[in-house]
Amino acid sequence: MMKKGIIGVFTVFMIFVWPAAFCECAQLAGTWEYHRSSYERPPQELVQQNVPKGGWQKYDYPDRPPLLGGETCIWLRTVLPEAIPKGAALFFTTTDQDFRIWAGDSLIYQYGEWTEGKHADGRKWHMVMLPDDAAGKELYIQAYSLNPWVLGDFSEMLLNDNITQMKRMFAADIPFIAAIPMTIFMVLVMMIYSQNPVAPKRLYDFLSFFLLEFALWMVCTMNICQLILDEPGLWWNAWRVLLYLMPLAANRVVYELIHPRWKPWMRVIIGCFALLMFVAVAGQIAGWNGLDRCMPVFYVMLLMLEIPAFYWTACFAWEGELYCRYMLVPFLAFIVSAVVDGSSMYQHWGKMQGSIQPVTVLALTIFILAIVREQMKRERYLAALAAGLRSEVAQAIERAEIDPLTNCYNRGKFNALMREILQSQENAPHPLSMIMLDIDHFKRINDTYGHEAGDTVLAGFAALVRQNIKKTDPFVRWGGEEFIIICDGTTLSEAATIAERLRERVADSDIFEKQRVTCSIGVASWHGAHDTERTLMARLDTALYQAKNTGRNRVVMEKEPSPLWDALADV
Ligand code: GH3
Ligand code: MG
Ligand code: MG
Repeated sequence: MMKKGIIGVFTVFMIFVWPAAFCECAQLAGTWEYHRSSYERPPQELVQQNVPKGGWQKYDYPDRPPLLGGETCIWLRTVLPEAIPKGAALFFTTTDQDFRIWAGDSLIYQYGEWTEGKHADGRKWHMVMLPDDAAGKELYIQAYSLNPWVLGDFSEMLLNDNITQMKRMFAADIPFIAAIPMTIFMVLVMMIYSQNPVAPKRLYDFLSFFLLEFALWMVCTMNICQLILDEPGLWWNAWRVLLYLMPLAANRVVYELIHPRWKPWMRVIIGCFALLMFVAVAGQIAGWNGLDRCMPVFYVMLLMLEIPAFYWTACFAWEGELYCRYMLVPFLAFIVSAVVDGSSMYQHWGKMQGSIQPVTVLALTIFILAIVREQMKRERYLAALAAGLRSEVAQAIERAEIDPLTNCYNRGKFNALMREILQSQENAPHPLSMIMLDIDHFKRINDTYGHEAGDTVLAGFAALVRQNIKKTDPFVRWGGEEFIIICDGTTLSEAATIAERLRERVADSDIFEKQRVTCSIGVASWHGAHDTERTLMARLDTALYQAKNTGRNRVVMEKEPSPLWDALADV
């Protein structure tokens, strides 16, 4: 199952990621030059005369042009290729700066307010249609921002026909579109499974938190979100905050899994990431661009601190801990994809293709399926154990209540039954009678044919009586060769009729082939609220005694019939 799971997950991954990886576009990779502008305030005129004539210097595109610090304006230029496709468009991602683009003499794009001290916030992609006659012309970009960290940062500019550009943009989203529903599905799976008392509930909770956090982060990464909600500042800041939160959530999951001896160290690691996140967010609020400036520290920390965390997981896995073993693949996927994404971002920052983070979710899917499978195994084991215990308990109860020779209830059970029955009499009085049977001259059978023959007669007698009474009437071995039938809901005279039938059946039977077996029977009934179990039993005993004394093989009813039920029955 595990192997199939891994193959399945990676097949899904390849299907979704492959088109994204192969949707390539041409880069605008000619010579690029920059010119630091001398403007103190943003120029309002959209005229091409503003383009500086001299003082242009080459720079290493797609890196940012070198700045002295303190500039607010910059010009960039390159030459468009001689051959550009029909319906050509430039596609690029840039930061919170205002900018205008000219192709030759004509202004073809403008973004931002261009008012002093104001700039759009966040990262945003732009698609700029090129005029048909743009081939071979110079491309000028004029950018303005009060934020010295972002000025002139245009990353890669991709030139292609607009359809290809759109395809490329959506292809880059495909891994996320595949991974987000999968993440939500996994959270639902864990929510369902955590209902079971044997579930590792805390692990599920922290995993769900990590996955939801991860899903949100992926939403912020997707290009398509900017089409739906054009709030670049919101997306970009949320993306970075969620990125800082990610190792916190991930390490909290690992904390649940590793051996207790490493937990204090793990707490230190989680503390470090929490501190970094705090510094980054505080730095951002203080206008120090903290979220961005802490990013290199973040990636270095990720690499440095996740290695020991991974080592502890691997150690425990080596010692045979199953969950840690399952965790190794997703953990490795998380570190590698984060570091690859991070470094690719720093080389060509804002590059949209190549985010391999969704791999983490796919690898985690394997982990979750594995732990759910373990839980199911445990549930099955416990269910089997419970079933075994249930049958053992039932057997023990039976042993405690039933006489093995005759299969009748024993005296212990008789007492319990009487308690129940007399209790129900208190709540709702109703007829209740008892029949007491005693085998005649049983001692002689024992003495003549042996104890075993006596046992056979006892078992045969009990079986015959049982065949001739209602299944619901408790049949008790009172002791030796004496038996009692409790006839709840039966009047004295009805019980006497039953007793008479039993006496005849026994007398006519061939329970014992060597000798006829008969029995004497006493019958008594419950007299109502003023009666007690002890006096009822005494009356029953007296009746039986009289049956014996008056010649055996007969039925005798108690002398004092129940004043209520039998009077009613006589009417
Ligand atoms: P009566 O007609 O007056 O009832 O005479 P009885 O011989 O049946 O009565 P008594 O009480 O004298 O004898 C009962 C005998 O039942 C005595 C005892 O050894 C025998 N007995 C009691 N329990 C068992 C048993 O489990 N197996 C066998 N084989 N004999 C039993
Ligand atoms: Mg007896
Ligand atoms: Mg007897």
